[in-house]
Amino acid sequence: MSKFDSIERVVERHLCMGCGACAAARPDLVKMVDTEHHGRRPLVKTGIDDDTARALVDVCPGKEIVFQPAANYDEAAWGPVLEVWEGHATDPELRFSASSGGAVSAIALHGIESGDAAGAVQVRARKDQPLLNETVISESRADVLAATASRYSPASPCEKLADVRADGRKHVFIGKPCDVAGANRLMQMDERLRGSIGLTVSIFCAGTPSLAGTRELINRLGASEASEINELRYRGNGWPGRMSVQLKPGDQKRVEPESITYAEGWGEILQKHKQWRCQLCVDHLGEHADLSIGDPWYRPIGDDEQGESLIVVRTERGRLALMAAVEAGYLVVERRSVATLAASQPNLEQTKGAVFGRCLTSRTVGSSAPRYQGGGHGLVWWHALTPLAKAQSVIGTIKRIIRNRLWVPERALRLLGNSES
Ligand SMILES: Cc1cc2nc3c(=O)[nH]c(=O)nc-3n(C[C@H](O)[C@H](O)[C@H](O)COP(=O)(O)OP(=O)(O)OC[C@H]3O[C@@H](n4cnc5c(N)ncnc54)[C@H](O)[C@@H]3O)c2cc1C
Ligand code: SF4
Ligand code: SF4
Repeated sequence: MSKFDSIERVVERHLCMGCGACAAARPDLVKMVDTEHHGRRPLVKTGIDDDTARALVDVCPGKEIVFQPAANYDEAAWGPVLEVWEGHATDPELRFSASSGGAVSAIALHGIESGDAAGAVQVRARKDQPLLNETVISESRADVLAATASRYSPASPCEKLADVRADGRKHVFIGKPCDVAGANRLMQMDERLRGSIGLTVSIFCAGTPSLAGTRELINRLGASEASEINELRYRGNGWPGRMSVQLKPGDQKRVEPESITYAEGWGEILQKHKQWRCQLCVDHLGEHADLSIGDPWYRPIGDDEQGESLIVVRTERGRLALMAAVEAGYLVVERRSVATLAASQPNLEQTKGAVFGRCLTSRTVGSSAPRYQGGGHGLVWWHALTPLAKAQSVIGTIKRIIRNRLWVPERALRLLGNSES
């Protein structure tokens, strides 16, 4: 019997990424919940039969992702790339509020206002509990504005795909690379859903920190309890923007909260709370999306810069959507080379190489690793990593497996009382 004959087995073996695809496949059987130390996780109804369990786990990108075969080294390192552009939203409010240049928001808004899409699947902070996220279908500029800027905390955008499928009209789907991989698996298995997603947009992603990471962040920002907070920002309101909290009105003696830079917040706090599956993630750049969008870190950013996004066109459908948004005046863009992508995200090329070694090591010592088909990732391990980095990808993995006690099964049971969403 396969090691992954059920969704619970994927979670236990630390391979769940929290995308929510299983919950979209069978919303009657699976519900996504927030856990403190791992991320959003599926809670599966008890007593389902083996065939149903196996059909459910088939949609899961946590255990397996199929990539296009790579024709050359660039494709192995960066995935399929038709064009690279740098640009920003022309709407100044969207651009300011967004993570980088607001390109994701501008493309979503153009889809909605042009009538090409009935809505856009997006993630935003919950109003009642701003430390947690919710997935919504944006249908207006106000909705898109409310969903601007990255949330460096767990989110499960695929879970909304059950509603998209039921609606039947075309939507834009926005998520991290693993979310788009999950959406694609669902689309391959479901013709109606395939017809309901007109465009997929992936943000670049170096990893998702757990809720425990966000709690450490708010403590550093001067709030002791989640209940004191009105709003939490990880990015945006400038580029890249500062991490900050806005406290609820109350105790006048309370010290005003500090804000910290994105580099401090990510480097000193959030990064060490990444879920384990992110260490085994080979796609940080949204290779399954029509468009993937991140930061053009290839140059130093001036203090007064308003924000730019790096836009990778991966499919003809993505090219048409981007050009339509540009022609309609939602975005301005300038052409860049593939080398700009490499210069902007050199760490992600190294990480991709290291993941090949990490997966091999994990399997060798009896821990689990996702199965990646195609993609030519071994080539990146061979070319991008020095002999020392290759050795580190092996030794570092063994140390992490021991430090994280990965032989102990992860349980999706450690729920917060407040995890209903
Ligand atoms: C966990 C995480 C790690 C990231 N790592 C990198 C990185 O290593 N390098 C890099 O260049 N960029 C990274 N990004 C992406 C980057 O922060 C910007 O999202 C990207 O540059 C697009 O900016 P924008 O201004 O065009 O997006 P915006 O116009 O601000 O739109 C952002 C979109 O992302 C969605 N979103 C926000 N948070 C999440 C989430 N947690 N899950 C799914 N969707 C979400 C929003 O709903 C919105 O649709 C990361 C983002 C996240 C959430
Ligand atoms: S990775 Fe996605 S589909 Fe797989 S178990 Fe986790 S939430 Fe479900
Ligand atoms: S690093 Fe990979 S697995 Fe982790 S959240 Fe980002 S895309 Fe998903």
